[in-house]
Amino acid sequence: MTDLAYLKNIRSPTEKDPIRILVSACLTGLLCGADGSSYGEYPSVLKLLSYKNVKLFPFCPEEFSFGTPREICDIYGGTGVDVLEGKAKVITSSGTDWTAGMIKAAEKMKQVAEKMKIELAIMMDISAACGSQVIYDGDRFSENKKYQIGTGVCAALLTKSGFKVISQRDFAALEILYSKIDRGHQINGSAIDHHESAWYKEYFHKP
Ligand code: SF4
Repeated sequence: MTDLAYLKNIRSPTEKDPIRILVSACLTGLLCGADGSSYGEYPSVLKLLSYKNVKLFPFCPEEFSFGTPREICDIYGGTGVDVLEGKAKVITSSGTDWTAGMIKAAEKMKQVAEKMKIELAIMMDISAACGSQVIYDGDRFSENKKYQIGTGVCAALLTKSGFKVISQRDFAALEILYSKIDRGHQINGSAIDHHESAWYKEYFHKP
């Protein structure tokens, strides 16, 4: 769930003192996806590259620990929070246990966030590392693949450490952010966050 109150209170940055945002590197077009791609284009984040009063810090935690290209992994037995607490595991599609490497990646991402004094993180939803609203529940390639509400391991550690995380699909939150960055931006009042989408409500039986 996004913290809209936090975004409403976030400062309006200047060129001299830009807002500092940690971002999943693939969302900025870097070719760090498991398959060596950037998983497509994400205009909601790419837009931020054009502002002089925004400083983006792209980081790919999986590339840090496992290189690119690499296998695809998912969380088994819980969410990213559970992985941090030793109650769930990160396993690749060939069955290799990546739990320790993913926790190392999360710790590195947290170090980057602290060192760069980031004010917000925008991360790729669904990823076992970066997901902030929804992740797979076990094997994404299974015939009975399932989603669950929850964060990936890196988003979980950032959140636990006090950083605010939103996803590239949290359009209502992003609208508030754009209005802080660009005084001329008119907030689109019909924009919604991922947890308000028809898919999310239907899948998770939310009113
Ligand atoms: S979602 Fe996160 S871990 Fe996956 S490619 Fe993007 S930055 Fe890397």
